[in-house]
Order: sequence, then structure tokens, then C-alpha cells
Amino acid sequence: MRNIAFFGLGNMGASMAINLLKAGHVVSVFDLVQSQVDKLVEQGAMGAASDKQAVENAQVVISMLPAGKHVKSLYESILNSCNENTLFIDCSTIDASEAKELNSIVTQAGHRFVDAPVSGGVAGAAAGTLTFIMGGEAQVVEEAQTILKGMGKHCFHAGGAGAGQIAKICNNMLLAVLMAGTSEALKMAMDNGLDPAVMSEIMKQSSGNNWTLQNYNPVPDVMPNVPSSNNYEGGFMVDLMNKDLGLAASAATQSNSLTPMASIAKSLYHLHGLKGNGKKDFSSIFESFCNTKR
Ligand code: NAD
Repeated sequence: MRNIAFFGLGNMGASMAINLLKAGHVVSVFDLVQSQVDKLVEQGAMGAASDKQAVENAQVVISMLPAGKHVKSLYESILNSCNENTLFIDCSTIDASEAKELNSIVTQAGHRFVDAPVSGGVAGAAAGTLTFIMGGEAQVVEEAQTILKGMGKHCFHAGGAGAGQIAKICNNMLLAVLMAGTSEALKMAMDNGLDPAVMSEIMKQSSGNNWTLQNYNPVPDVMPNVPSSNNYEGGFMVDLMNKDLGLAASAATQSNSLTPMASIAKSLYHLHGLKGNGKKDFSSIFESFCNTKR
């Protein structure tokens, strides 16, 4: 059992904090939106009136915030109020270079840092089945893992500081390419009179088989219980995929990596978002292949 200060009680963070409570930890919570704090207090968390108050007794700080600038400004605000040798775990998806910078700021102040972005989305956060992809020193990662297991199923140590963020965006970059490519192939089959359900089965048993066909078919009514069969509601928003593709492009520039497939996927998703689809699930990219005249 640990004393944990948890920051960011949004779509992901609220469920994650609830799972930490279920795992028996003492959790102090803070969010800029008071109603989010109130919901967690009803579940047994201690509501903090300020970020500094949240860390008063904390041994561990966990953040699940929108972007790097939010994490940096939070850390700058609380760092001097934290107990000695606090373990900082940032689960937000942020730029890998920002994660490295946070690692320096935190370690120079005598604390420890792990970047631990997640895969698994809102459903995984609620079910406690997230995958945590960590970057940091082995010993620190090992300790972080004992806490993160209360919120997830799998934990990976990708490498040193920032490696968790790199691994996460490489995965999401591939996912964007796979979803766009699968949509393109299925639509071409449909344009030629094929049934997308039959075509999906053919590809699942052939060399085009991939995760999107197995778990997340983008064509409406091919699979039950996926966003495409629910007006592309729920799931992983186009806006968030665009954020991750932006982070991937920035990392690729810094490492001088060639990412032509991701560049095309990024343009497709960017345009799709600009057309008002930002809040839809990312599999709605299929619709962007449906606007062609025959
Ligand atoms: P969200 O916008 O729903 O929640 C973010 C919360 O942070 C909000 O409640 C906001 O009020 C709070 N916040 C902002 N600044 C704060 C501060 N200084 N102190 C305290 N609270 C603050 O976002 P989300 O969907 O929960 O995503 C959080 C992170 O997880 C993002 O980095 C996102 O990229 C990543 N992520 C999201 C998903 C998903 O499916 N939603 C999946 C994987 C990863």
C-alpha cells in the first residue's frame, strides 16, 4: 500500500485512480475541474484543494494529463513541495524529448522519474487492463511496475528515459497506417462488388491479416461491438490519433528516420479531422475512402 497523488481525472485518469483505490492504495486526487475530483471522492479518494496539497503525504506522483506542457507546469508547481525521493510516473502521451527533460528536472531535484504512457484506451483504463510502456532506470521501472499493475495487465520496459514514449508512438504510428491501409483494401473490394465481411475473412486467413481486421474492423456492421458498428462512437478519437501522429513526426525528425507511410497516414487523418470528424473513433478513416465518385 502506497500514498499516491494522482493528477488528471479525465477519460483515462478517473478510472485509473479508481483502480488504484481498489488495489488498496491511499489516493489523493487533483484536477483543474472540481466535479472530477468530487466523483473520485465519492469512490474513496482524498480530494485535494490544490496540487501542492495533493503531494503532502505522497510517496508516488502519477500524472495523466493532455500534453507535455501540462505535465511540465504541474511538476514545476509541486516539485519543491514533494517528499524526499518521490517516485514520479507520467502516464500521459507526450513528446519523448519532453519526457527526457522531465526526467532531468525530477532527478536533479533528488526524486525519481519513469515515463509510462499507456495503450488500451478508455475501455482498458476502466477494466484495469492497460498496457504500460515504460522508460527509465531498471530499478525505478521495477518499483513503478508494482504500482502500475493495479491499473493494467502488461508492463514493458522499453529502455532509458523517453523510451516509453518512443515505443508508444511507434506502435500508434503503425496502427494508423494499418487502419488506413485496411480501410483502403476493404473499400476497393466493395467497389468491385465484394462483401466486406467475406473479404475480411479472406484477408484474416491470408497475408494481409492484421490487428485491425481481427479486433477493430472499420466497415460498419462487419463486427459487433466495435465503434464502426456504433456510428464510430467510443474508442480512440481521431483528435488523439492526430496528436500521436504529430508526436511521431516530431520524433522522426529528431532521429532523422524515414517515415513515408506515416506521413501519408498523418495527412489522411489530418484532413479527416478538419472535416469535422475529430471526435469520432479513428476507424472512421474508412469514411474518407467512401467519398469517391465512380
Ligand atoms: P482528458 O482531456 O479526458 O483528461 C485530462 C484531464 O487532465 C482533464 O480532466 C483536465 O482537467 C486535467 N488537467 C489538465 N491540467 C491539469 C493540471 N495541471 N492538474 C490537474 N489536472 C489537470 O484526457 P484523457 O483522454 O484522459 O487522456 C490523458 C492522456 O492519456 C493524454 O496524454 C492522452 O494522449 C493519453 N491517452 C488517451 C487515451 C484515450 O483513449 N483517451 C488512450 C491512450 C493514451
